[in-house]
Amino acid sequence: MRYSSQTIVGVSSGFAPNRAGGNALYKLVRTSRLYEQIVQQIEESIVKGALKPGDQLPAERELAQRFGVSRTAVREAVKALREKGLVEAYSGKGTFITDGTTHAVRQSLDLLVKIGQPEGSSHLAEVRAILEPEIAALAALRIQEPELVTMREAVAVMDRAGQDPEAYIEADLDFHLALAEGADNPLILSLLDSIVGLLREQRLRIFQVPGGPERGQIHHKRILEAVEQHDAERARDAMRAHLEQVREDSQAQTAKRQPGLKHS
Ligand SMILES: [Zn+2]
Repeated sequence: MRYSSQTIVGVSSGFAPNRAGGNALYKLVRTSRLYEQIVQQIEESIVKGALKPGDQLPAERELAQRFGVSRTAVREAVKALREKGLVEAYSGKGTFITDGTTHAVRQSLDLLVKIGQPEGSSHLAEVRAILEPEIAALAALRIQEPELVTMREAVAVMDRAGQDPEAYIEADLDFHLALAEGADNPLILSLLDSIVGLLREQRLRIFQVPGGPERGQIHHKRILEAVEQHDAERARDAMRAHLEQVREDSQAQTAKRQPGLKHS
């Protein structure tokens, strides 16, 4: 998944390289907050091409050692980089340099969903229903061990999540993204990556439906099993059933919140 580096260079244009020698401008940089200096250094690495889309950032502890700062400063820096859309954090996997295109696509879709609420989210659910069963079928044929490991871990995290919606929802996203990675088509991954994150709100609603997470897990395990056995047809059917369950649970919760509305 490589895109023109121009996208990312554009984000940082106007950033002054930190050369030795110093003048008034550099003094300003030195007095800026610690995390801002880390952000600048990482931005520079991206501009220079030392860090490319898809590259993983070292762990928090390692970055703190390299920069000689606290982990808090590193955490703040990573947060700022995320807000700029330069990196993306995947729970349990780490933080990766993004390509600006995915970020741009996501921002437009995000806006679309916000404008179109609640229809926007049902439109997105339709897109998922079109994409994800075929993704599951492809993944059944092409998936490699690392993606299977991620999927198994995600299922285990969801089993353990209990009443922690964030842990469940992030693992759910990981599960669906690992499957898309398993389909081994970078365009599919980019498309799903743009869409899946948007459904956080819907997932939060489902989490609050009694039995919703457990029902989801039954389907996740069926999908995983079919993919492990490289059974494309069963994987496709299992994903269809999962998305149908998600739709029903989501509607049940919406109806509960708006007692005047009856769903057929
Ligand atoms: Zn799911």
